Amino acid sequence: MSAKKVNKIAVLTSGGDAPGMNAAIRAVVRTGVYHGLEVFGVTRGYNGMIDDDIFEMDSKSVANIIQRGGTILKTARSKDFFTPEGRQKAYENLKKRGINGIVVIGGDGSFKGAQKFSNEFDIPCIGLPGTIDKDIAGSDFTIGFDTAVNTAVEAIDKIRDTADAHDRLFVVEVMGRDAGYIALHSGIATGAENILIPESKTDMEALVSALTEKEKRKKLVNLIVVAEGDEFGGGNQVGDFLKQRLPNADIRVCILGHIQRGGAPSCLDRLIASRMGYHAVECLLNGTHNVMVGIEDNKMKYTPLDNAVKAKQKISEEWLKIVKILAS
Ligand code: ATP
Repeated sequence: MSAKKVNKIAVLTSGGDAPGMNAAIRAVVRTGVYHGLEVFGVTRGYNGMIDDDIFEMDSKSVANIIQRGGTILKTARSKDFFTPEGRQKAYENLKKRGINGIVVIGGDGSFKGAQKFSNEFDIPCIGLPGTIDKDIAGSDFTIGFDTAVNTAVEAIDKIRDTADAHDRLFVVEVMGRDAGYIALHSGIATGAENILIPESKTDMEALVSALTEKEKRKKLVNLIVVAEGDEFGGGNQVGDFLKQRLPNADIRVCILGHIQRGGAPSCLDRLIASRMGYHAVECLLNGTHNVMVGIEDNKMKYTPLDNAVKAKQKISEEWLKIVKILAS
């Protein structure tokens, strides 16, 4: 933990963009200004630290952004930040401005980088979980997840209309990388008959039997939501398999893709981003350093960056049981 008083802070977004990142930037900047700190923005993630793309921000710099998706600071993955030379350069650019506290809005990779940087140069870092995948332990919410799920739900509802009109079986692939949360939540919320996620074993033979049995019962609308990281494969693999095994069914595949990333953040994402951004600055000031700011049971939770990177959230057995029962 650094003993130096934090009076100049920088904020950056790193990794994949997520709706609500702008609301978090706004909260960090305005809370910093409220406390009389000098606040800097860093563009394009850690690349901006290395390339000296750092600029002063004030309350006005974050006006009219709370409702916008993406990130006004831009985001990137930085190869150079993996190297000691890259991090040294980044440090020198911060040092010459006297920046002595950082807020990183990103995913677990960004936190790994922050932890390493902080260990090497004794600059406290605070992480805010900004990812649509919800694959970080230590918080019930991640910035962007709620918006992404709502986008998926809206799209799947529309697909259901077509599935119903044509008696088709639709396989819809949603994002989430190796996490199944977007699939689980959007699948339950749209009444999908089957939800395939990496956290539970995918039994394709059981799926074929269930669909065959449903065909007999003339249950005609079938929606299968599959997480892109499911161990059997994504939407195309699942669709190809089912087309082979159920040659009489009219099967279509829809990959939702990047529409799930953008768009105006939901009310929930704006709220949690604002709350987390505020607490990130409070942490820098009160000495709670090198933690990820999360929310659990409606209380702030501070997880050491080391732990935030190691653990993944688990999907509860209860949810998996609910999916099975409601899909019948
Ligand atoms: P998302 O969940 O959207 O992918 P992320 O933060 O996990 O976000 P990553 O690409 O894993 O995205 O990491 C973002 C950046 O953090 C990397 O491009 C790199 O600059 C830095 N980073 C990640 N891991 C390390 C590490 N072990 N050492 C140094 N820097 C790292």
